[in-house]
Amino acid sequence: MSNRIINFASDNTAGAAPEVMAALGEAASAPAMPYGDDIFTQRLRDLANQVFEREVTIFPVATGTAANALSLATVSPPYGVVFCHAAAHIEEDECAAPEFYIGGGKLALLEGEEAKFSAESLRAKLEVTSPAPPVHHAQPAAVSITQATEVGALYSTDEIAAISAVCGDHGLALHMDGARLANAIAAQGVTPAEATWKAGVDVLSLGATKNGALSAEAVVFFDPDKAADFEFRRKRGGHLFSKMRFLSAQLLACLEQGRWLDFADNANRMAAALAKGLQQLDGVRLWFPVQTNMMFLTLPEPMAAALQAAGCQFYTWDAGEGVLSARLVTSFETTADDVATFLDIARRAST
Ligand SMILES: *Cc1c(COP(=O)(O)O)cnc(C)c1O
Repeated sequence: MSNRIINFASDNTAGAAPEVMAALGEAASAPAMPYGDDIFTQRLRDLANQVFEREVTIFPVATGTAANALSLATVSPPYGVVFCHAAAHIEEDECAAPEFYIGGGKLALLEGEEAKFSAESLRAKLEVTSPAPPVHHAQPAAVSITQATEVGALYSTDEIAAISAVCGDHGLALHMDGARLANAIAAQGVTPAEATWKAGVDVLSLGATKNGALSAEAVVFFDPDKAADFEFRRKRGGHLFSKMRFLSAQLLACLEQGRWLDFADNANRMAAALAKGLQQLDGVRLWFPVQTNMMFLTLPEPMAAALQAAGCQFYTWDAGEGVLSARLVTSFETTADDVATFLDIARRAST
C-alpha cells in the first residue's frame, strides 16, 4: 500500500480543494472591508442568484449546526414546533442548538426508512388533534428535511414537493439541511433550482465543508422577506465574521463553474465503485442501495481488521458473531486508486 492515507470515516476528514486554497490565498493578498462589505461576498451573492436562477439571500456561516439553528430560528417562534426525522442531524448531532437558537422551540420526530419521512406521515402527525384548546400546544412552525439524508439516501423532487404541499396546507416553512445537497444534485441530475425552491424549499442550509471547502457553509433564503431578521440573529449568535471574505471566497470557489457538483459527482462515483466491489465479497452485506457518497454495511470482522491494520480508517460498531457494522464515506478527493487499494485489501482478507 502506498503512503496515501485512505480515510472513509466521513467526508469531513478530507482536505480542501486546490481551488479553495487558491481563493483563500487571493483573499489574503490584499485588504478588504469587513463584515461582508467586500468583493468576494458581493461576487458570492451574484453567483448564488445565478446558481439558483432567482434572487436569493445568501449568508455565509462557519458550521452546519449554525446554518441549521439560525435558519430554523428565523422561521419558528419560541413556542414553535419543527418537524423532522428522528435521525436528523438537528435532532441527533447538534446539542439542542436549534431549540436554543429558536428560543425554546421543540422538535417533533417522524420515522421512516433511510432517514426519510413521507408527506403522508407528516400530514398524519399534523392532523392528530388534542381536545385541549390550541393555546395549550406548541405551534407547528416548520418542517426540516435532510438532502441527502443522514444515511446518504435521497428524496425525489416529487417527494419534496409533496412535503411542501403539506407545509402549504398548514402554513409551515420548509427547511432543507443540505450539508450534502451537492451529492444529491449530482446523483439526481437536477438543477440546484429544481432541487430546492422549485420543489417548495423556503430556506436552505448549504454545505461546503464536506465537499471541498476548508470551513464554510451558507444559509440561503429563497424568499427575501423570510430573511429579514437573519442578520441580527447571525450577529447575536456570533456568526457574523469580520473577515467574512474568507468564508465567501471558499463558497465562491466551490460554486464557480459548477465545481461543487464535480466534487460531489466524484464522491458519488467513488462510493458506487466501492460498493460494487465490496458487494462481490463473501460476508459483505450492504444495508441499502448506495445513492450518494455514503454506505452502511456489514463486514466480516477479519476483513475490517485487515483494512484497519493496513491503515484504512472508517467507523465500525456493534461487534458480535464475527461481523461488524461499518459506515464508509467517500469525498471529493477520493481517487480510483484509493478504492482499488481498499478493495484489494478487503479481497485478500475475504475467504
Ligand atoms: C455534517 C452535517 C451537518 C453540519 O455539521 P457541523 O459539524 O455543524 O458543520 C449538518 N447536517 C448534516 C446532515 C451533516 O451531515
